[in-house]
Amino acid sequence: MDQACCRLVSTAEGFYSRLIDRNLCVSQECVAVSKRITIMGSTGSIGTNTLEVVRALGSDYRVVGLAARQRWAELESQCRAVEPQVVAIADPKCAEQLRRMLNGQVEVLEGEAGLVELAGHRDTDFVVAAIVGSAGLASTIAAVEAGRHVGLANKEALVMAGSLIVPLARQTGARLLPIDSKHSAIFQAMSAGSVDEVRKIYLTASGGPFRTWPMEKIASATPADALLHPTWTMGPKITVDSATMVNKAMEIIEAHWLFGIEVDAIEVVIHPESIVHSMVEFCDRSIIAQMGQPDMRTPIQYALTYPRRLRGCARDLDFSAIGQLRFEPPDLHRFPALRLGYEVARAGGTAGAVFNAANEAAVEAFLQGRIPFGRIVDTIREVLDRHAVQSNPNLGSILQSDAWARNEVKECLKS
Ligand code: NAD
Ligand code: MG
Repeated sequence: MDQACCRLVSTAEGFYSRLIDRNLCVSQECVAVSKRITIMGSTGSIGTNTLEVVRALGSDYRVVGLAARQRWAELESQCRAVEPQVVAIADPKCAEQLRRMLNGQVEVLEGEAGLVELAGHRDTDFVVAAIVGSAGLASTIAAVEAGRHVGLANKEALVMAGSLIVPLARQTGARLLPIDSKHSAIFQAMSAGSVDEVRKIYLTASGGPFRTWPMEKIASATPADALLHPTWTMGPKITVDSATMVNKAMEIIEAHWLFGIEVDAIEVVIHPESIVHSMVEFCDRSIIAQMGQPDMRTPIQYALTYPRRLRGCARDLDFSAIGQLRFEPPDLHRFPALRLGYEVARAGGTAGAVFNAANEAAVEAFLQGRIPFGRIVDTIREVLDRHAVQSNPNLGSILQSDAWARNEVKECLKS
């Protein structure tokens, strides 16, 4: 075994190191067929894709809870379609409208307390965490705390609080199943060997809409430019994160927490076709890739049906039509966010919460036309540079660091 491999052995303490080893002999509980599912963020891109997957999977998979921020009319029509037991809406102003429309047929919870109550609901087996950003943290923690299995799309929760969520899941027996396509790919590829045989992870990235753009043009890209992703259709925040490559930086941190992989053993590779969703290299230099159409319904479905595979609604892949698969090294000069991802993953503590909050605030400012595209990552860097990282934070310090970073972004943007 070489050095990189030994490093992994000694640090393989992420959530999956335990899950994968345990699942080599799949327990009865893992193969339970019927599932009662709650979708946090049901009106979003992941949420609506999840509803499609559940519909395609048939009657063994049932939606019992839905949650969103404000779009009560959409929630109401989702309720008519899937007849959940409970629904939560974050904005209390919209709760009355929704109650009136549903006429007492479905219980309506409201506010952050309502989201938290729904995520830990006793009649749920599986929670899809698909609220975007830090707004998903409390409900993700609530689901894990209640021991519910979680399909994790809300990567920001792990970036902010992986140090709390991973041990909590171990304690409560909650399983964290990745919905993020790269992490689903890594999870699937990992089962080709044992955790102590893993040498390296290749995290693929499409390169986003600005992959071939020169630096000066990227710096002044507009929201319309940034929202035009070449291969994936997603919500606006993650689409901008893909353009800056903050998304990939977050995925480095996410992989680090989920798989217990040392940061140096994670390599980002640009793959414009988005067909190879990621790869795992083992100590014998065999590399296992997971491939498929760039379609989030596949990783969503795998999280729901794990450890089984069902037909579902994924589309066929025609290799001859694709013709070629390209791989390139990332350009850290044009996409400096990637370097931040490695730094933040190494720093640990409150660095993730500051990174995430500064990004959320800067992306919001960009989408509102208050700052140019090039300023997003510069702002995050400035805020991180001013932050004194606190190690082993509790939830209170994580939330304080989040608030501090948002305030720092305001200060930065004044100048
Ligand atoms: P989206 O913007 O399309 O949807 C976000 C959802 O969150 C909506 O249902 C919205 O109502 C809800 N929401 C937002 N703020 C909320 C609040 N304060 N309280 C309650 N609900 C709130 O986003 P998306 O693209 O579906 O992404 C969701 C999550 O999944 C993100 O964390 C993203 O990084 C992750 N993810 C998305 C994709 C993708 O293909 N879209 C891929 C990988 C990971
Ligand atoms: Mg991804």
